[in-house]
Amino acid sequence: TANEGDLNHPFFARQMRIVRETSGKIDPERIEEYIAAGGYQSLYKVIHDMTPAEVVDQISKSGLRGRGGGGYPTGLKWATMAKMPGEQKYVICNADEGDPGAFMDRSVLESDPHRVLEGMAIAGYAVGATQAFIYVRAEYPLAIDRLQKAIKQAKRLSLLGSQIFGSPFDFKVDIRIGAGAFVCGEETALIASVEGGRGLPRPRPPYPAQSGLWGCPTLINNVETFANIAVIIREGAEWYANIGTEKSKGTKVFALTGKIRNNGLIEVPMGITLREIVEEMGGGVPDGEVKAVQTGGPSGGCIPASLLDTPVDYDSLVTIGSMMGSGGMVVMDETTSMIEVAQFYMEFCRGETCGKCIPCRVGTVQMYQALTKILKGEATMRDIEQLEQLCGMVKDTSLCGLGQTAPNPVMSTLRYFRDEYLVLLQDSPNGKVAVKS
Ligand code: SF4
Repeated sequence: TANEGDLNHPFFARQMRIVRETSGKIDPERIEEYIAAGGYQSLYKVIHDMTPAEVVDQISKSGLRGRGGGGYPTGLKWATMAKMPGEQKYVICNADEGDPGAFMDRSVLESDPHRVLEGMAIAGYAVGATQAFIYVRAEYPLAIDRLQKAIKQAKRLSLLGSQIFGSPFDFKVDIRIGAGAFVCGEETALIASVEGGRGLPRPRPPYPAQSGLWGCPTLINNVETFANIAVIIREGAEWYANIGTEKSKGTKVFALTGKIRNNGLIEVPMGITLREIVEEMGGGVPDGEVKAVQTGGPSGGCIPASLLDTPVDYDSLVTIGSMMGSGGMVVMDETTSMIEVAQFYMEFCRGETCGKCIPCRVGTVQMYQALTKILKGEATMRDIEQLEQLCGMVKDTSLCGLGQTAPNPVMSTLRYFRDEYLVLLQDSPNGKVAVKS
């Protein structure tokens, strides 16, 4: 098992730390330590040496994509925002991390809050926003406490607030605390919640960049996205774009967990394979073989061991029926029931659906019931067919990402582990006999 005294162990040696470059090395409650490590120099650089358009251009050229899960190009989002007219624009940091087992953003906020604040301020300068909010879930009290201290310290040194670095640029940051609804990670629901309303998604367009918080243009990025910004400005877009794959640049932080020897947070360059993560860094399964790896939490899919050589990037994971998501990565061994895994995630979605649209509100309940029926051995082939139709319908007709991606764990297990479903059916020519043959 890897321990921190053994930095040559692949668990540490294979990591590439950009987002977490100073995590664990500086005291997160002392701004002086962040500054001594080069902190806020990128903010100084953009304010004094770059136009807002040049900053947007650098972020575009870096190839950075949104780390919250969707992978939308960050530079494009910033460029859209920068072009929007209006006196009042907002920046929001989405710190409503909610995937089961995921704690990447929490770790960044707790260990290096100034990195996120600096990224937000650079974004504000680039898109013309003067007010920002960080939306953090209430379950993260230490992160909230450290953010509060960090904002206070940065204001004291004129690194946030009015006339930053003595320039005309003003940028204020306030914290908004979420009550823990998973759906509030969806950007329109998050905006509704910051406005004081119930966290319900609404149809897009208009997109938040066009009409967001209180009807004003609003830029929303997640914690990890903002944590990349200061490094990109410091090292240059070209340097950043050289890391990763053609369409997925930089690094990604994952919460590696499950049936694996070495678990915890890892930051790896995009393009590393699942096998390298699971077998080299993670040390493999303690007893037995890897059966599957689940990425993307309730929105992602279960990837079978036969596809472990897949590179970890946005597009490759989607091609095989999963997704990057925000960074959950759960390893399963041969003792794991894949139907139970699908049922677990569906139970989560069933509980977290906001209920606004019927396909998701009713569909998640029906998918959960179908999985339960299968696990009890009470289902027939007709139930599997109906489950597949239901998955497609919920995916195609739900209003927001929660419903659109909720069927993914079911669809991926039906695709790769179909035999596990078939052996439990009552009417089996497709059952045990067929599977064993
Ligand atoms: Fe709410 Fe689900 Fe519809 Fe999203 S898809 S709006 S979470 S009911």
